Amino acid sequence: MVDGPGFRTSIYCAGCRHQCPGCHNPQSWDFNGGREMTTQQLMRIIEADPYANVTFSGGDPMYQAAGFAELARAIHEHTRKDIWCFTGFVYESLISEDQRELLENIDVLVDGPYVERLRDPDLLFRGSSNQRLIDVPKTLYAGEVILWQPDISI
Ligand code: SF4
Repeated sequence: MVDGPGFRTSIYCAGCRHQCPGCHNPQSWDFNGGREMTTQQLMRIIEADPYANVTFSGGDPMYQAAGFAELARAIHEHTRKDIWCFTGFVYESLISEDQRELLENIDVLVDGPYVERLRDPDLLFRGSSNQRLIDVPKTLYAGEVILWQPDISI
């Protein structure tokens, strides 16, 4: 419930190079951590809960953008679930073909590194105030960052 609105299935990937001081999950930095899983295996887990939406976290999914883009496509093809993705990169720096493809298949991107001096425990779904909740479909359509607006019931 802290990885986006409502109940969610969170996929935590291994591997992150941002090394943000104060990172909540430094054990996830190791790219050799975790275990390999196929898109089909992850889909079985995701589809097992019909009410949970999906969050990609880590680590940083943008280091494995091709795999997560494939998973995001499968989620949108087979379910009505929305997809949130956390990354330590800022949106404007996500320019590789795989990263753009992942962006085209998610709903909200929480972007930017965790900055300890900007920490604010009252922020919704993020740790520091430099991080943005970006409405990705609207942003791609507009060609400029459009922030996600929370539903009144959250
Ligand atoms: S991007 Fe996230 S996982 Fe990576 S170092 Fe920063 S806070 Fe930790």
